[in-house]
Amino acid sequence: MEKTPKSLRLHIALFGRTNVGKSSFLNLVAGQDVAMTSPVPGTTTDAVEKTMELLPIGPVVFIDTAGFEDETELGQERIRRSLKVFDRTDAALIFCPPEGVGKAEKDLFELAREKNIPAVAVVTKTDLVQPASSLAGELEACGARSVICVSATDTANREKYVSLLKQALIEVLPEDFITPPPLLGDLLAPGGLAVLIVPIDIEAPKGRLIMPQVQTIRDALDGDAMTLVVKTKEYPQALAMLNRKPDLVICDSQVVHHMVKNTPEDIPCTTFSILFSRLKGDFALLAEGTRAIGRLRDGDRVLIAEACSHHAMDDDIGRVKIPRLLRACTQADLQIEFSSGRDYPEDLEKYKLIVHCGGCMLNRREVRSRLQRAAAKGVPVTNYGMCISYTQGVLEWVLSPFNA
Ligand code: SF4
Repeated sequence: MEKTPKSLRLHIALFGRTNVGKSSFLNLVAGQDVAMTSPVPGTTTDAVEKTMELLPIGPVVFIDTAGFEDETELGQERIRRSLKVFDRTDAALIFCPPEGVGKAEKDLFELAREKNIPAVAVVTKTDLVQPASSLAGELEACGARSVICVSATDTANREKYVSLLKQALIEVLPEDFITPPPLLGDLLAPGGLAVLIVPIDIEAPKGRLIMPQVQTIRDALDGDAMTLVVKTKEYPQALAMLNRKPDLVICDSQVVHHMVKNTPEDIPCTTFSILFSRLKGDFALLAEGTRAIGRLRDGDRVLIAEACSHHAMDDDIGRVKIPRLLRACTQADLQIEFSSGRDYPEDLEKYKLIVHCGGCMLNRREVRSRLQRAAAKGVPVTNYGMCISYTQGVLEWVLSPFNA
């Protein structure tokens, strides 16, 4: 895999009124025509995405949204879609005309504040109108953490505007967005050894490992640690061949029972899914939500939420295995519903439990935003890995390396 996947890129979204210059600014930053621009308001219909390396920040994806203030029916639908982009936005660029702040900008800053998204104000078209001296203060009062003034037609000064943007982003982004916490850092010291159990079955993609496995290997290498990668069947043999105990064993959730059964009690073990819920999700919230499985009763509604719409296999983990495990574990007649892709329901309060997939296709902000929406409605939420571990009676065991 040569390019950083989108889910690992910082998501920077451009919001503003129609024809305020968002798309022109994105084209200027990219140094090429990415977004369609025109003096006709409402030219950007759906969100347009552009991936880029923005050093020293790293790999980013810019999301150019449709303009606000479009009163047509179609325009309202575009606005609704643009608002959904907030759920995956790590940093918002809120565009403002040089004449001053209006209701549209105030509403956008308020939304960013509600969702705890750092916002940079980008004052555009400064070649046409000199911004009022009071404008920066007004924008800061609205919630802008940084203000930059740009002219998208001034291509000779492109480097200057890109530098201003980078500087503003570095100022507003929390440290852990620029340097994410290590995956294994506190579990595996330099020189340590982790055994990774990777089932190669019908669900495994042909010719490659999946992203969480690759990221774990890379993180161990970054931390000067070692990994031994084995298939499920060879795990006991591999363990017996080692002349030292591994410091950690990590497996795919679907073979958690096999791992626990074959691992001595003094070797910490966990699953990829649980490991990643520290990085992407909200570990404490998910661990707590998982324990709600024990309170499920006949007739309770459970939502299984998948973040992509992949082709379901015969014994699909989300569609088949987890419902089977939940029903067997609770002995309850559960009403199980499914959602996939960006189709995460609004009316979450009707569920007694949400079981979310690992969200490997989503960025950290979007996974957390989904979990928070459930928490705000008082609905316990778990993920596939923790849910499977609970139904196999090994949850506390695989959480123990994290002192949860
Ligand atoms: S973890 Fe979620 S996003 Fe990743 S492949 Fe599975 S269903 Fe799709």
